[in-house]
Amino acid sequence: MKFVFLGSGSAFTVGADNFHSNMLLISDRGKSFLIDCGSDIRFSLLLAGFSHTDISDIYISHLHTDHAGGLEFIGLNTKFDPTCDRPNLYLSKDLAGDLWERTLSGGMRSVEGDILDLESYFKVHKIDRNSYFEWEGIQFNLVKVTHVNNGYFIIPSYGLFFEVEGVKVFLTTDARLTLEDNATFYEQADLIFHDCETSPFPSGVHAHYHELLALPAEIKRKMWLYHYQPGALPDAEKDGFQGFVKRGQTFDFSNSFLPSKEKV
Ligand SMILES: [Zn+2]
Ligand SMILES: [Zn+2]
Repeated sequence: MKFVFLGSGSAFTVGADNFHSNMLLISDRGKSFLIDCGSDIRFSLLLAGFSHTDISDIYISHLHTDHAGGLEFIGLNTKFDPTCDRPNLYLSKDLAGDLWERTLSGGMRSVEGDILDLESYFKVHKIDRNSYFEWEGIQFNLVKVTHVNNGYFIIPSYGLFFEVEGVKVFLTTDARLTLEDNATFYEQADLIFHDCETSPFPSGVHAHYHELLALPAEIKRKMWLYHYQPGALPDAEKDGFQGFVKRGQTFDFSNSFLPSKEKV
């Protein structure tokens, strides 16, 4: 099983050096599972050697365009390509309504001679609260994270916790640093892929490098950082992290790449 970062940048990524933070999990028998599908997906998939025909399963963490904006591209391409089946779409139950009504329906609702809905394009799997879904025998647990609080409510946003070939992975997706809420996932994970803002002007809705820097060494040594801004990056390895994930970087779970204890 391989884990490929099609991009590792933030929503504000520009140019072709990096793309939105979307990943592909690729099974040994060649099945691909897309984790988040931003508006960069038509470029990032192509550059990594894939196309819409490779996408049979998709997870969406939340509704920002760098995570869900590419679903129109994938949905329309697979719908009108007779060689494609409807992709499976996994997402938390509280996202599905808004994904269609507020995000996708404008461009996807009307086709010649018909009115369509989300199910017309995708086999939708709405995941219950504190629950999980399975793909290729792997159980993906949804982890509620805090990302944007609009003053009335915290928008739904869900990271993933899963185990591949004995390696426990916590993928935060877009998240603030909320150790108190998700302590067990930070502790249990062998590897943590963490949202990391590097902007000199912190937004408050993402964990910032300076906050992550203050974490205990035993957590930092498990951490790969992603979803960062364009421009110069701090020396994350020197600071005790695994490093910043580069576009195209691939983690092969059949090889041992776990953090060594010597880094502590
Ligand atoms: Zn994002
Ligand atoms: Zn976001």
